[in-house]
Amino acid sequence: MDKVYLDYAATTPVDPLVVDRMLPYFANDFGNPSSLHRFGQTAESALEQSRKKILDLMNAGSDNLIFTSGGSESDNLALKGCIGWGDGSISSRIITTPVEHPAIAATCDFLEKERRAEISKLRVDKYGCIEEESLISQLNQQATLVSVIWANNEIGTVNDIQKLGRICRERGVLFHTDAVQAVAYLDIDWQQLNVDLMSFGAHKFYGPKGVGGLVVRKSVRLIPQHTGGSQENALRAGTENVSLIVGMSTAYEIACQNRKKTNEHLVVLRNQIIEEVLSNIPGSHLTGHPEKRLPNHASFVFEGVIGQDLVIGLDMAGFAVSSGSACKVGNPSASQILLAIGIPEDLARGALRVTVGRYTTEKQVRIFLDTLRRLIKDLRSSQGYK
Ligand SMILES: *Cc1c(COP(=O)(O)O)cnc(C)c1O
Repeated sequence: MDKVYLDYAATTPVDPLVVDRMLPYFANDFGNPSSLHRFGQTAESALEQSRKKILDLMNAGSDNLIFTSGGSESDNLALKGCIGWGDGSISSRIITTPVEHPAIAATCDFLEKERRAEISKLRVDKYGCIEEESLISQLNQQATLVSVIWANNEIGTVNDIQKLGRICRERGVLFHTDAVQAVAYLDIDWQQLNVDLMSFGAHKFYGPKGVGGLVVRKSVRLIPQHTGGSQENALRAGTENVSLIVGMSTAYEIACQNRKKTNEHLVVLRNQIIEEVLSNIPGSHLTGHPEKRLPNHASFVFEGVIGQDLVIGLDMAGFAVSSGSACKVGNPSASQILLAIGIPEDLARGALRVTVGRYTTEKQVRIFLDTLRRLIKDLRSSQGYK
């Protein structure tokens, strides 16, 4: 059997139409969008059309989109750009959550260690949902920025960003969301969202790696983290990667056009995985919210097995899955996110994430579930687990 990819939360293959649309900008239309001549104008027009397309699809046409190298850079720009460089004394405070992607979590740790910002964390429930009461009480003190992940990469939980955003807006505090996992699956209506800054990256929605964006409300004063030329409104210096940006806007358009149909397909497969695992594998538990979760996302912890052993065993059997976040390769410790939602450390080591995509079939899922059940049985008996 061919290898089966069930790790769409880590990355997705590039849509063939996206590849087609990118190719001319590597070759004939290679101009620098900042040049005045025709080569430059062609590139500049592709760049601005891509920007307009994405903003229009998000109903954010009157605000700004800064192109970046991906979700991680967008997250960095949002946090560091809002607190500024400071003067050596801590004057900024960021309120975030214990269930963020490392692009936010490690950036907050860094800013705290460098004494550039004070970091406060919101409470989450056992599904990883942010508790509103906790946000309200944290906002009783001065804050520069609130940053909350929209859809969780490890446990699939989807937060009510509109509601959390309203709480921030009513108190005049900037609100950022890491929407990197969300944008492929959720309809975005920026005008209704109460968000001031939003990060996304193309490779999570069948676009190329190494490109992303930060949507920024016009009223936000952002401090650039890359200085140099005046590209991207002087907020991110460096010649734009026109090919990748064209690819990203094409991929986003396809994602929006097919969203309803794709999500219906994904939910069926995801539910099959969750139902069969929980009913056929003893000592298995779903992580994340049972309903408020990404349509393609199933995540579990298993008693008496190590997640990494599962990933390796499944890989040998031809299935690509993850034991958490792809950013944790070679790090066998339990996930901070699972610990934050109250899963005991021992159990948290038995984590497995299965994320389906456009190209996943029912047959692949069926064979996968058989393989998983057998593998867990074997691993447990070899370790004397009863
Ligand atoms: C993948 C991911 C990122 C990082 O995006 P890159 O484009 O890989 O830098 C950030 N946040 C979340 C939630 C992600 O899933």
